[in-house]
Amino acid sequence: MFSKTRRQLTIRNALVLFIILIVLSMALYGYMRVQLFARVDQTLDHTMSRFGKVMQVPSIDALPALGQPASPFPSAQAIKVRLSNLDRPVYELLWLSKDRLITSPLSNELMNDFSKSKIQQFSPSRYDEGPHNVKIGKQYYRVLTMKDKQIGYMFNVSSTNEPIETLQYITNITTEIDMLRSLLYILIIGGGLGLIITIVAGFYLANRALIPIQQSWDKQQLFVSDASHELRTPLSVIQAHTELLLRHPEQTIEQESRYISTILKETKRMNKLVNGLLTLARIDSNQTELNIKPIYMDQIMKDVISQMNYLAELKEIVIQTELDEGVLVHADDERIHQLFIILLDNAMKYTHEQGFIQVSLKKYTQTIIIEVVDNGIGISKQDLPFIFDRFYRGDKARTRADGGTGLGLSIARWIVEGHNGKIHAESKSVGTRFVISMPLSS
Ligand code: ADP
Repeated sequence: MFSKTRRQLTIRNALVLFIILIVLSMALYGYMRVQLFARVDQTLDHTMSRFGKVMQVPSIDALPALGQPASPFPSAQAIKVRLSNLDRPVYELLWLSKDRLITSPLSNELMNDFSKSKIQQFSPSRYDEGPHNVKIGKQYYRVLTMKDKQIGYMFNVSSTNEPIETLQYITNITTEIDMLRSLLYILIIGGGLGLIITIVAGFYLANRALIPIQQSWDKQQLFVSDASHELRTPLSVIQAHTELLLRHPEQTIEQESRYISTILKETKRMNKLVNGLLTLARIDSNQTELNIKPIYMDQIMKDVISQMNYLAELKEIVIQTELDEGVLVHADDERIHQLFIILLDNAMKYTHEQGFIQVSLKKYTQTIIIEVVDNGIGISKQDLPFIFDRFYRGDKARTRADGGTGLGLSIARWIVEGHNGKIHAESKSVGTRFVISMPLSS
């Protein structure tokens, strides 16, 4: 019944969890990447502003004469010393027009490492200004390029006195790239594992979410099947007896009174059953709310007992009472009234003629204890745990004949629990005792 819903919920739960996982992984990877490159770019930028700017001159006229040491430029030794202060090795490439490279003190190491053709991969014509990555062999480099026709002149290297058009600062970022790659692998493997876990978790969550729905569905199904079964019996009896009546239309009411009284009895039972069902259906859909107000418990009990006295006299049953006076509690008077009707009606139903019923009410500091005791047929050990269940009837044939529906005690329990109280039944071989404890103010 719920397998399709379970599947849909699993997919939905897993999808949501997986998307969260992917977004988090992407955010983590992106953040790491930005952070790593930001640090590298900062170093390159810093180097460029320290060394590149030195070479910038306002115009060709402002340059010193050819062959003279270029006073604005720091010496190779000075540059090396200053570079050693950086947190990572940085190289410098100086480009003339048409991608011609000239050496600078800072490019030597790079030049030594790479052949001429490989070093051309840094060629500025391939890249715009700003930082970018270049892969040469298995090594990765971060390159900061600055293009400016007036960057400066290197007299000692550019004998043609051509302007340096492009300046590049380069650093090896293979470690960073390896780190990012490892992180990516971890995230991909983690994502795969995450997918499996999210499916399992999604299935588990879907199952858990469905448990209360399944339970209430089962309860509802049971309720409907029990209710229809219970209603079918009186209906069939009524139908059969009415058909019997119609077979002999010439008979008088007196002659047919046996059938008529059965029809009346079954109709009354059905009425009771429908009322009980309605109460329980309202309870299930949370439509029934208790109307709590201060009431005198002893007074309500006296009212119900006097209502029942007539029936008790008919059965020659004695109702003894022991009620504390003026017991003020906070409760719903109509429901409390219904509770005592159920308990006394049962006690009356299941007690032989000339039996007795004892009803007591005791008030304590915080609680009240109510007891309804009879010396009737009692409840068997097997039945005792189930008597508060819906439609549960001890001796089916017997209770049916007594007009029992099996709904009374489940309504009684709901009333008591609705007042934050507890109800239980005790029974030895003879007689039954119902004990209710309720707070004075629920
Ligand atoms: P019913 O309408 O059948 O009385 P209840 O829910 O009120 O339904 O009671 C459930 C069952 O508990 C009864 O069928 C009966 O077997 C048992 N029972 C309840 N009260 C008593 C009692 N006072 N003495 C003996 N059995 C009782």
